[in-house]
Amino acid sequence: MAHLTNTAPTAELQALDAAHHLHPFTHAAGLKDKGARIITRADGVWLQDSEGHRILDAMAGLWCVNVGYGRRELVEAAAAQMAELPFYNTFFQTSHVPAIRLAERLAGLAPEHLNHVFFAGSGSEANDTNIRLVRTYWEMKGAPQKKAIISRWNAYHGSSVGSGSLGGMKGMHAQGGMPIPDIHHIDQPDWWSEGGDLTPEEFGRERARQLEEKILELGEDNVAAFIAEPVQGAGGVIVPPDSYWPEVNRILDKYDILLIADEVICGFGRTGNWFGSETMGIRPDIMTIAKGLSSGYQPIGGSIVSDEIAEVIGGDEFNHGYTYSGHPVACAVALENLRILDEEGIVTRVREETAPYLKKKFESLADHPLVGEAKIVGMMGSIALTPDKASRAKFEDGGALGYLTRERCFANDLVMRHVGDRMIVSPPLVISTDEIDLLIERARKSLDEAM
Ligand code: PLP
Repeated sequence: MAHLTNTAPTAELQALDAAHHLHPFTHAAGLKDKGARIITRADGVWLQDSEGHRILDAMAGLWCVNVGYGRRELVEAAAAQMAELPFYNTFFQTSHVPAIRLAERLAGLAPEHLNHVFFAGSGSEANDTNIRLVRTYWEMKGAPQKKAIISRWNAYHGSSVGSGSLGGMKGMHAQGGMPIPDIHHIDQPDWWSEGGDLTPEEFGRERARQLEEKILELGEDNVAAFIAEPVQGAGGVIVPPDSYWPEVNRILDKYDILLIADEVICGFGRTGNWFGSETMGIRPDIMTIAKGLSSGYQPIGGSIVSDEIAEVIGGDEFNHGYTYSGHPVACAVALENLRILDEEGIVTRVREETAPYLKKKFESLADHPLVGEAKIVGMMGSIALTPDKASRAKFEDGGALGYLTRERCFANDLVMRHVGDRMIVSPPLVISTDEIDLLIERARKSLDEAM
């Protein structure tokens, strides 16, 4: 049996990696000089690299390993499903038990009116599905001109051409012909960076009203949907002021525009509830899911869709699907992952114990000279680095200090991510209080070293 356990020296693996492996979101030339850090195994919240270092993973992989690493039940669920039915598709009037059971389970967890699941292999694919779903819905309702989708600058909704267009990452748009037509962006509700003299509440309302202005500019009869994460994740964990979402809800209701809540990060316990929509008080028509759905043990995503949309779309063939829509092994693992989250009370424990503890510790970093805002919702938080707290000033070489701090974290065996000059945490939901203490201790040490 081919075995992938590391036996080669790190330098040899790094050279092979640089020679043959094109990495996502990576400056390849830079990696050639430095060599990738090679992760070989993991357990709980701990990674191990090819040199034997144990690294505290405060990012849960890529915001996804919610139940932590090394859960045998998930391995066993995958093996059992592979033995029984490793693959069958869900196209052309066939189905299978894992997809049926998972769809049923998700309908039970989602808000009451969302009862139908379209599976995909990732969050990007699911958001591509959503573009087609909302436009097809309006077309079938007799409003084919309703095509425009509004999103936010600095949002991340995936990396395919469709989902990358929904996202508001200008660096991504600059490569490869994005955005596609009929996608429009408004500003994000980032009070720390962009709030000026307004109070957070004034600013939240002002940013929400940009949505109304954009709807009126495009023509209210031309707008199909607004897509947003309940709390922006990859954009830097941008926690909106309390006034933001109620105003957005009001505007969407007024103009009869669908809301796609991208729950790829916020879902499955990350914000202290099953979905971020609940935490932020929003009522979506579609939810995008991925990541924590399987805790990253298998690639799977999907769209949970309202009864109304499913009924309308169901009136004709929806010409859309992926070979791996509802992959049986991924569905079986996701089901087992949901069982663990539920039966071990992980989501409740996050809400009542772990998140309040992490919040107290994380916000204590605000007294560090480099730290301006320290904001956290549930188990996702960020600190904004600043040369001057009082004026909320930004560094001129935006991102350089964030990069350096991330490097110091890595050297101190802690994975934190930087987005510009924001430092992010999003640990596995099962992190213990001792591990949270260690996370904060290492983060503070790294900040000291970055000064
Ligand atoms: N939506 C959000 C909010 C995300 O954070 C991500 C990934 O980080 C995606 C969509 C894309 O998911 P995937 O990387 O599984 O395609």
